[in-house]
Amino acid sequence: MAKKQELQNNSWEYAPSLESTSHISIQKKYDLYIDGKWVKPSSGKYFKTINPANEEVLAEVADANEKDIDKAVKAARKAYTNVWSKMTGAERAKYIYRLARMMQEKARELAVIETLDAGKTIRESRDVDVPLACNHFFYYAGWADKLEYAFPNRNVEPVGVAGQIIPWNFPLLMAAWKLAPALATGNTVVLKPAETTPLTALKLAEIIDEAGFPPGVINIVTGYGDTGAALVNHADVDKIAFTGSTAVGKLIQQATAGSGKKLTLELGGKSANIIFDDAPIDQAVEGIVNGIFFNQGHVCCAGSRLFVQENVADLVIRKLKQRMESLYVGNPLDKNTDIGAINSKKQLETIEQYIQIGKAEGAEIFQPTCAIPSKGFYCPPTLFLDVAQSNVIVQEEIFGPVLTIQTFRTVDEVIQKANNTPYGLAAGVWTDKGSRIFNLTTKLRAGVVWANTYNKFDPTSPFGGYKESGYGREGGLHGLRPYVRLK
Ligand code: ADP
Repeated sequence: MAKKQELQNNSWEYAPSLESTSHISIQKKYDLYIDGKWVKPSSGKYFKTINPANEEVLAEVADANEKDIDKAVKAARKAYTNVWSKMTGAERAKYIYRLARMMQEKARELAVIETLDAGKTIRESRDVDVPLACNHFFYYAGWADKLEYAFPNRNVEPVGVAGQIIPWNFPLLMAAWKLAPALATGNTVVLKPAETTPLTALKLAEIIDEAGFPPGVINIVTGYGDTGAALVNHADVDKIAFTGSTAVGKLIQQATAGSGKKLTLELGGKSANIIFDDAPIDQAVEGIVNGIFFNQGHVCCAGSRLFVQENVADLVIRKLKQRMESLYVGNPLDKNTDIGAINSKKQLETIEQYIQIGKAEGAEIFQPTCAIPSKGFYCPPTLFLDVAQSNVIVQEEIFGPVLTIQTFRTVDEVIQKANNTPYGLAAGVWTDKGSRIFNLTTKLRAGVVWANTYNKFDPTSPFGGYKESGYGREGGLHGLRPYVRLK
């Protein structure tokens, strides 16, 4: 009977398949990468970055203050004026192509470091984050000498010095999203990675150094929110690009208002994944799992609100619960793992708080009976049924593997419910009917709408939000626009 149950749940026991860490090199201590050199932080302060899967310290990282930011911005300005903005697009492209190729050569090392520092599964960092990051550089390198075709009949000029601040959910990929279009269009950069995930950006700095970029074109400074704020407030920064929480995005918007700085924001989300009764149900269930549970729900466009047409709701919920029973939660370095570690203790506490709120709001909770490691920060995949549109867990971004399910009867009803959120980053539609897909893609107020798939990314495709999910687009031709002045 137990065997039968096991087969039914598809919860096979796999032997561990751990990715080796023997081929990576992480320094004990990292300084700031400014003007092509590694420089000590002027405060002399360093902070620790840990592996969220086991809470072990990975490295110490410099804590940059206003003085360091000033140094980095000055280096970027000098490189902009003297070298990078004067170089032809074809020459700039050579550097960017070289960086992309060198990243590919070090892909395995980057993937392992990403998994160690961020807690995301090796499957994800190896198959998604790192290849996409490389492709992003390849793609924008291709634009560097073709800007007059991107903006026909216009004179294209770079903006100047870009300050770029990124979060912890896709550390290397977000660095690529920010750096590649800025560099291709002739801007120089000061980039600040998130405090909990600085290591792949610092590894990237080593590769940038090896690639021989002119000093000051790319500066990488580490630190907390105050370091980011110093970058935002620096008078000689021409453009700020920020990806992170809506709360901090609003602060940055206020700080830059009236300053003349260009600004793009990619903020939070509460994206709807919509399943119609004619959808291929098994694929849709896989799409739901991919949309919210893989990558620990740490995707800003995670499909965290599920809408299922009423007549197939029981079937979808049954299949979803069964699939959730087969998900592996645990060591992110294990290739079998589906859900790795939550990035930080703070984030785990936030998620747990929301789970308590969901219970208190009277929603029915389902969590599979999976084993969870005793050390490290882990959260089982969690489903909330019987939720109302007004529930906090339906309205607020949780940023964890937590899904709410609502049902609907008509197309108009689901459009209204899906749009009833302050956010508008992404949505998914699952149906066999092409006309319905086109109807929904025009009416859903979200920057990206996936049809019969979810969380698919490509450098050629623009990404960005509506409403409180931010503005500006990254990726594709649209991604060049925030980094140029057109005459
Ligand atoms: P999350 O809540 O997902 O951690 P945050 O918005 O707090 O996202 O962080 C995203 C990035 O913004 C990080 O690099 C962080 O250090 C930085 N940051 C936090 N506060 C500020 C601020 N006031 N100004 C500029 N950057 C900030």
